[in-house]
Amino acid sequence: AARTGDAGVRRYAPSMGQIFLRRFQLVTQFRQALDTGQVEVHFQPKIALRSRAVVGVEALVRWVHPEFGRLDPDEFVPAVEATGLVDALTSFVMERALIEVRGWLDRGLRISAAVNLSVRNLADENFPERVGEALSRHEVPPQLLTFELTESGVMSDPERALPVLRRLHALGVVLAVDDFGTGYSSLAYLRQLPVDEVKIDKSFVFGMGSDLSDMAVVRSIIELGHSLGLVVVAEGVEEDAVRDQLVEMGCDIAQGYLISRPLPLDRFEAWLQARTVR
Ligand code: C2E
Ligand code: CA
Ligand code: CA
Ligand code: CA
Repeated sequence: AARTGDAGVRRYAPSMGQIFLRRFQLVTQFRQALDTGQVEVHFQPKIALRSRAVVGVEALVRWVHPEFGRLDPDEFVPAVEATGLVDALTSFVMERALIEVRGWLDRGLRISAAVNLSVRNLADENFPERVGEALSRHEVPPQLLTFELTESGVMSDPERALPVLRRLHALGVVLAVDDFGTGYSSLAYLRQLPVDEVKIDKSFVFGMGSDLSDMAVVRSIIELGHSLGLVVVAEGVEEDAVRDQLVEMGCDIAQGYLISRPLPLDRFEAWLQARTVR
C-alpha cells in the first residue's frame, strides 16, 4: 500500500493506475512499434567452454520507444505475452535470427540462434508449422535454431504444451529449458520433456565464485544434465574465475558479460570479426 504524506498525497509508491496505464499504452503501441522499426533484436554470444569457439547466440528483443527511450524486455514482454501479440513478437525475433544464421553460414560460420518462447507459443498448435516454413524459406538447417522455454511456461499447461514441443522437436530444432533451477525443476520433470539442453539460471552462476551452495547447485545441474544426455549451458558468466570453475566441472557452453553483453547486429558482427581474425 502507498504511504500517505502530511497532505494526504501518496508520495512514495507509484500509483497502480499509472502502472496499468503505461502497460496498456505499451501493449497498444507494440504492433505499430514492430512495423515501424522501433523493435530491435540484439545478439549475445554463447561459447563452447572447451574450445572457446562461438557456437551460438541468444536473440534478445529491445524496444526503442519514442517517448520512454530504450526499454528492456522485462518492461514490456510480460505485457505483450498477455496478449495475442506475442505471436508477432516471436515471429519477428525468429525471422531476424534466421536471416543472420543464414548469413553466417554463407560466410562459413556455423552459429546457431536461440529464440525465447512464451507460454502462448506453446499453446498455439500452428506454431510448429510456421517454424518449419520459416526454416525452409531461409534455408537454415533446424539444428541451428534453438528455442528456450521456461519450465513454468511448460508446466502451466503441460497437456497443451507437450504436443507442440514434440512437433517442434520432430522438426529437428534444439529445445532448451531456460532459467533451470528456479522453478519446480526436478529430474522427473526433465525426463518427460523432449529437450536437448538445459540452461543454468544466472542467479546460481553469479554466486558460484563465492557461495558454496550455489557452486553445489551448479555442479549438480551439470551432472544431472549430463546423466540425461543434455548439453549444459551456464548463463550470467561475468568472471574469469567462474568460467574456469565451469570448465573444471565439465559445463559445455557459457554465456555472459565476461564474453560479451547482448549487442546490436553491427556491433555483434564487429565483435565476431575481432574474435575470429587474430
Ligand atoms: P533470459 O531468457 O533469461 O535472457 C537472459 C538475460 O540475462 C538477458 O536479459 C541478458 O541480457 C541477461 N544476461 C546475460 N548475461 C548476463 C550476465 O553476465 N550478467 C547479467 N547481469 N545479465 C546477463 P534481457 O535481454 O534483459 O532479457 C530479459 C528477459 O526477457 C529474458 O531472460 C527473456 O525471458 C525475456 N526476453 C528477451 N527477449 C525475448 C523475446 O524475444 N521473446 C520473449 N518471449 N522473451 C524475451
Ligand atoms: Ca533465454
Ligand atoms: Ca535465462
Ligand atoms: Ca529470465
